[in-house]
Amino acid sequence: MDWEGDLTHVNVFTVDRGSSAYRPFQLFHLAEVLLLFLNQIFWHDGVFWETPATWRKNDMPLPAVVLLSGGLDSATTAAIAKSEGFDLCALTIDYGQRHRFELEAARRVAKMLDVVRHEVLRIDLGAFGASALTAAIEVPKDRGDEEMGHGIPVTYVPARNTVMLSMALAFAEAVGAADIFIGVNAVDYSGYPDCRPEFIEAFERTANLATKAGVEGTLKFVVHAPLIRLTKAEIIRRGTELGVDYGLTHSCYDPGADGLSCGHCDACRLRLRGFAEAGQRDPIAYR
Ligand SMILES: [Zn+2]
Repeated sequence: MDWEGDLTHVNVFTVDRGSSAYRPFQLFHLAEVLLLFLNQIFWHDGVFWETPATWRKNDMPLPAVVLLSGGLDSATTAAIAKSEGFDLCALTIDYGQRHRFELEAARRVAKMLDVVRHEVLRIDLGAFGASALTAAIEVPKDRGDEEMGHGIPVTYVPARNTVMLSMALAFAEAVGAADIFIGVNAVDYSGYPDCRPEFIEAFERTANLATKAGVEGTLKFVVHAPLIRLTKAEIIRRGTELGVDYGLTHSCYDPGADGLSCGHCDACRLRLRGFAEAGQRDPIAYR
C-alpha cells in the first residue's frame, strides 16, 4: 500500500462495477481512504511527526532540562529525572550569589549524574539588590521553626524562580525537551511564593502559550516539581535510594571563606534537621 498515494491510481483497474469481482476493490478503496485519513493525522509535511511519545515508544531517551543549583533539593530532583529515563540537560543560573561554592557543587553534581549537557548562565539578579542572598544584607541565623514558617524571609530573591524557569524553558525549547524539572519545595519554604504548586501550574500554562513549540503543538511542556510536597527527610531518603552523594552538594546561605557551612542559617538548619529525621548523617562539613 502506497502511503503517499492518492485515490486516482486505483482507477487503472478495469473492473465492471456491477460484478461481484468489484467488491474487493471497494474494500481496497475503503482501506486507502482510511490510510489517507491516518496519514493526515500522523504525518506532518510528509515526515513522520516526531513527538516525545514517539521517541519514548522507540526507547530513545528523552531530553529534559533540570535546574541544578548545587543544593540538596536540585541534586535529588535531577536524580529523579534521570531515574525516569531522561537525558539530562542541566542548567545552573549564576545569579550573583554571595559565594561561589554552590556553583562548584552544581558542577560536581552534574558530573555525578552524567548529564549530557551543562550550561552555567550568568544572570546578575544582584544588580537589583533587595535580597540577603545577593546583596550586603545579613543572612538570618538560628531562627526557630515558628519564625521560619511565617512570612517571606530576606533570603527571598525577587522573582528568582520565574527568571530561572524562563531560562529553563528557553533551553528546553531549543533542545526539543518537553520536560522541565525544578526542585522547589512548598513544605519547608512555605514563605517563598515561587515555590508553591499554584506558581508551577501557572508557569506550565505560560510555557505552552509563550513558545513556538507550545502553540504549534510540537512540544507539550510539563514542569515537574517532584519534591514540592515532600519534607526534607523524605527528600533525603528518596535521594539516598537513588544513590545521590549528598557530600557533593552545598546548601548554606552564608559559608565561610573555606566553603564550610555555617550550620545556623535557614538552609543549614533545615538540612541538618532533614538528615536527623531521615536517620542519616549529613556528609558535608560544618564550621
Ligand atoms: Zn548556613
